[in-house]
Amino acid sequence: MVYSGGLKIYSTMNVDVQNAMHKTFEDSENTKLFPKLSGDVQPQAAMVIISPEDGAIRGMVGGVGPKTESLILNRATDTYRQPGSSIKPIAVYGPAVELNLISPGSIIIDEPFSQNGWNPQNWYKGYEGPVTMRRAVERSMNIPAIKTLMQVGVDASFDFLVNKMHFSNITAKDDKYLSPLALGGLTKGVSVKEMAAAYATFANKGIYTQPYMYTKVLDKTGKVILEKEIVNNRVFSEQTADIMTSVLVTTAEGGLGISAKLSNMTAAGKTGTTNDDKDRWYVGYTPYYVGAVWYGYDEPKTVPYSQTSIVAHKLFKSVMNDVHAGLKNKGFKAPSGVSWATICLESGDLAVEGCEKTAYEMFKPGMVPVKECSGVHLAEGENPEGTDPNATPDPNATPDPNATPDPNATPQPSAEPATTPRPEHTPIPIAPAA
Ligand SMILES: [Zn+2]
Repeated sequence: MVYSGGLKIYSTMNVDVQNAMHKTFEDSENTKLFPKLSGDVQPQAAMVIISPEDGAIRGMVGGVGPKTESLILNRATDTYRQPGSSIKPIAVYGPAVELNLISPGSIIIDEPFSQNGWNPQNWYKGYEGPVTMRRAVERSMNIPAIKTLMQVGVDASFDFLVNKMHFSNITAKDDKYLSPLALGGLTKGVSVKEMAAAYATFANKGIYTQPYMYTKVLDKTGKVILEKEIVNNRVFSEQTADIMTSVLVTTAEGGLGISAKLSNMTAAGKTGTTNDDKDRWYVGYTPYYVGAVWYGYDEPKTVPYSQTSIVAHKLFKSVMNDVHAGLKNKGFKAPSGVSWATICLESGDLAVEGCEKTAYEMFKPGMVPVKECSGVHLAEGENPEGTDPNATPDPNATPDPNATPDPNATPQPSAEPATTPRPEHTPIPIAPAA
């Protein structure tokens, strides 16, 4: 019918968005973004852009360079790779906020962790002691992610990913363990399209939409012969989604995502790097578009950190800057239905006189701390382990016998690129609801 009768296919593609993607991904001058570092093998990349309000795919690129053939490998939809730390917001923190287990101002202790011979590390040396959840995301800390996942439980985390956000290659047998769900070392992995759709859930007030590329197909007589049914479901409450957006704005605007920062548009986003540096991700969004980028080799091999650690960030930035040219920087709508309180950044309790490091933070209804800070804080440089009465680990965070670590999981200092993280305890760039 395509070749003889003629069909009208109503695509969701936005030509300007698609052209912006081609411009970046096909640019032969772009050798800085796609250097051949390992022999003569070309590093690859893929990207998907979705409009969050309807879940439609507005643009897609399945590889580097000009498209020369049809029906070839599309790395945006057909390739599944480990998401690394970009899994943390969707598998750990989003579910934890949704289940009223934590808030952005909750304190998690970053300290040595060991379970059944598994000794995960942070990508940076050492431990920061008590940190807020907001900072743990911003710095992509591994130990706080693991501890938070233990509160959520691997069953609930798996349920969010597989049953609510519809990841197709995450299996209970291979992946329902602490290490893959907290740190992203999944056995088969995720596609770029799946990651874009999952983050679009945050951007669309908690509603997941199955991504789609056409709305209807008409035959030559004008009769509708195919109509796309748009399938969606609620994953997070609006408050959870907005809180996660606020946390991811902190990450994108001042944390590890800073090298992806757009020139004239507020964005939320998260980096992802696997433990062996084979897959590099950036997933981010603005009020207009969600973009997911993967960068690596078709035959997985290490992407040298020094030269290409932030290529995914740069691809995101290059395409999204073009896509947003001329659009108003309207920012994200202030969350509605959340409460605000000034908390002590060392205890997570309500700040009192004498608390030096404080922040005005958002909470879901009923989650505002009622306890005032005792005023007892760690002295500068003091070992955080068990010296602060406020710093006792959550008693609920005891190891779940069902949550044994993945036996295949090697200790992973999942190496996040050290760009220019925000200095500790600087004011948080968020605005309270008007
Ligand atoms: Zn205090």
